[in-house]
Amino acid sequence: MDKKSKAKIVAEKLQKLYPEADCSLDFYSPLQLLIATRLSAQCTDERVNKVTPALFEKFKSAEDFANASPEEVVPYIHSCGFFRTKSNDIINMCKKIISEFGGEIPDNMEDLTSLPGVGRKTANLVLGMIYGKPGIVVDTHFIRITKRLGFHGTENAEKIEKIMLKLIPPENSQKFCHQVVIHGRNICKAIKPKCGECALSSECEYYKKHTPA
Ligand code: SF4
Repeated sequence: MDKKSKAKIVAEKLQKLYPEADCSLDFYSPLQLLIATRLSAQCTDERVNKVTPALFEKFKSAEDFANASPEEVVPYIHSCGFFRTKSNDIINMCKKIISEFGGEIPDNMEDLTSLPGVGRKTANLVLGMIYGKPGIVVDTHFIRITKRLGFHGTENAEKIEKIMLKLIPPENSQKFCHQVVIHGRNICKAIKPKCGECALSSECEYYKKHTPA
């Protein structure tokens, strides 16, 4: 089976399994999504969702963050890890949003990735969730599962993004990514994937290789 046909089948199965899949970060504005996504690096979305209500209650706008010191932000995000880098990134990101983008969150990859602490993963998420643009959000679950399924043999996020963009219809790209992440959390875990319970086993190269005939 060619990869495009396999991607179609996998996407259909995931849609049946997780029709309501969506971004698991809580946010009420583009800025909040950007900041929550920055906080989610090396941290769980669950943890981020615990700290952001108090953070966003204290700092309500890009100006509030831009005028804050790292010492003021750190107590709110401490439990997310890498709090010094994250607080600096958030403050500097907001300064740039104000000084170069008139306080608006950019709507294109180049400008988004020019913001401190914003990589392609975050940019793709914002482009999809806020601006409805196609994009492949490559996180650790996405790398692992698409590799096990046999769509690629790399761990390079940018290469994976390009490969999967060609296989998944643009209008379904964001949803597909959310569905893959849920499948990674529930079934295709990093250690001891639950292959016996997995609806994707007939499309999976890892399963074929590791399961006796
Ligand atoms: S069959 Fe196993 S390795 Fe393949 S996608 Fe399912 S859980 Fe992951």
